[in-house]
Amino acid sequence: MSFQSKNSDSNSTRSKRFDLDSHLTGAVRGGLRADPATGALLTPIYQSTTYQQEAVGVHKGHTYSRASNPTVSALEEALGVLEDTPPAVCYATGMAAISGLFLALLKSGDHVVLSDVVYGGTVRLFDQVLGHLGIESSFVDTANPAAVKAAIRRSTRMVFIETPANPTLKLTDVEAIAAITRPAGLLLVVDNTFLTPLLLRPLDLGADISMLSTTKYIEGHNATVGGSVASRDEKILDRLRLIRKTLGSIQSPHEAWLTARGIKTLPLRLQQHSRGAQVVAEWLEQHPDISRVYYPGLASFPQHELAERQHALHGGMLSFELKQGADAGIALMNAVRLCVLAENLGAAETLITHPVSMTHSDVPREMRERIGITEGLVRLSVGLEDPRDIIADLSQALDVARRSERVAVPSPQEV
Ligand SMILES: *Cc1c(COP(=O)(O)O)cnc(C)c1O
Repeated sequence: MSFQSKNSDSNSTRSKRFDLDSHLTGAVRGGLRADPATGALLTPIYQSTTYQQEAVGVHKGHTYSRASNPTVSALEEALGVLEDTPPAVCYATGMAAISGLFLALLKSGDHVVLSDVVYGGTVRLFDQVLGHLGIESSFVDTANPAAVKAAIRRSTRMVFIETPANPTLKLTDVEAIAAITRPAGLLLVVDNTFLTPLLLRPLDLGADISMLSTTKYIEGHNATVGGSVASRDEKILDRLRLIRKTLGSIQSPHEAWLTARGIKTLPLRLQQHSRGAQVVAEWLEQHPDISRVYYPGLASFPQHELAERQHALHGGMLSFELKQGADAGIALMNAVRLCVLAENLGAAETLITHPVSMTHSDVPREMRERIGITEGLVRLSVGLEDPRDIIADLSQALDVARRSERVAVPSPQEV
């Protein structure tokens, strides 16, 4: 039985956006169908390349696992329940999803407008691949709808936004951008990896496509890589599946099974990630060594009003800077014990990342500086540990950072 919502009037849309409980049943039961052969409650891992056909042209819907696989289909249905769409299209990684959707929907000579603060891999995709194929791009401040409007050319086909953006958490008002793309006949794509369809509903706000790196909150346990693209437009979905089969970038059944398991606890995890991040952000904000904290749930966040209008909870990602600058930030990251120094985000374990040397090292320096990714910026993916333990760890690491800075750069009086 699947729990696809039939009701998409604005009241239910509103409740889906602001009532996490309304997703509990869909998360646990969406796409769940006892295995017809054995009664196994969970869709098994169908580890099979091919499928025996009953007669020429007669089969049960799957023919070759590069085109489709029953375990992957179960995950796609579960994601469709979360997104309120037909089954999503799942890919081997989030980057395979992003490159799959650009290659499916764009051609040489087309132009795309993208958020200037965007996942590093998306920037590299344009620099190293799509640019060479004649697909043009403009990276603009999508927090400013007028900048998006000004960047649109005759050849523009798509606007691609990331909100909250990685790693400064800058928000884009999805409805305001949809009000530009809809009348112009442009596709609006939202990379919704940070909030997931449980906290941000891009398709209800007027976007055409919702894209996820399932590697992050969706699977949530630091165990897989994967990506998903959802839409309510069947023509888009058909085209995505054709190009995925052509490029060979489908998700593997084992990863799909783990990801589907992660979805069952997604509402519960997002609640705790958001609660923990709020507590840690408020603590950091009052700490004397911290100069800035970026978290949409803070009253001091420049777009706090938009955050409250666009999502009820603000997820587990935050970033901050130390007053003593980059060296102190690096010393802090080297001194943590509970927080794990690693790339990735959205998992049970709290992860701490230095965007300049890790996730955003390929973003040109000039662009990094313009969008606020400073040398000293620290990104924190608040996990599911007791927030008091996360704070205690950051506190001891800040103490180390303060001392190490003094040793590294003696003040003039001490020399
Ligand atoms: C991680 C991430 C991606 C890429 O996903 P992978 O699964 O690592 O390929 C894309 N967008 C955002 C916002 C991400 O955080």
